[in-house]
Amino acid sequence: MKRFITGLLDLLFPPICVGCNHKLVQGETLICTICFSSFPETNAHTLVDNAITNHFLGKTTITYGFALYKLRKQSHLERVLFAMKYKNQPKIGEMLGWHYGNILHQAPIMETIDGIVAIPLHPKRFKERGYNQSDFFAKGLSAALNLPLHTKCVERIRYTPSQTTKNKIERMANLAGAFKVIQPALLADKHLLLVDDILTTGATLTACTDALLTAGIAKVSVATIAVVEA
Ligand SMILES: [Zn+2]
Repeated sequence: MKRFITGLLDLLFPPICVGCNHKLVQGETLICTICFSSFPETNAHTLVDNAITNHFLGKTTITYGFALYKLRKQSHLERVLFAMKYKNQPKIGEMLGWHYGNILHQAPIMETIDGIVAIPLHPKRFKERGYNQSDFFAKGLSAALNLPLHTKCVERIRYTPSQTTKNKIERMANLAGAFKVIQPALLADKHLLLVDDILTTGATLTACTDALLTAGIAKVSVATIAVVEA
């Protein structure tokens, strides 16, 4: 019966690609094959120094930095990530995490990484949105890489209003002291992969990396779904 209803619903409201709005065919979920294969990959995980690590130079000390895609304005990828973040489609994050994890699986830079941590949302923001898209990305990565996901190791203790109207220095100041590491002794000797959805200025990842390193975590690397193209 459930299958019949799903089939009927698909007939009446055929699922469409969140990127290009075209009808999905059998075997496609959320994103069509054409969109998926057109998203520009950074391949940053193949280089120790790259456009992502450059974001953090002089700000904080990350061991490695990489992102799956380059994000261009008004692209299908931008629509996909918007749906993931604001239109109640967090499963997109998990799907992309799984995809990225399979790409990273053989990368030498992954060899020393012990676990994954997602940038947390403030509880108030979490309540507004109902989910944290970075948790879903982290979950997909963790499953594909077979690495533990540490869900309760860092908290966001300050509610920061939208950052979009602020400049780089204001963003940094706004986020200082926003994160608190819980029981850092448990992860002190670890090399953690800190993940977020989109790398724009790097202010959020910088603040959270600082909090982890200050709390005594041995090494922090960062990974995001996309990096905004300058
Ligand atoms: Zn598409």
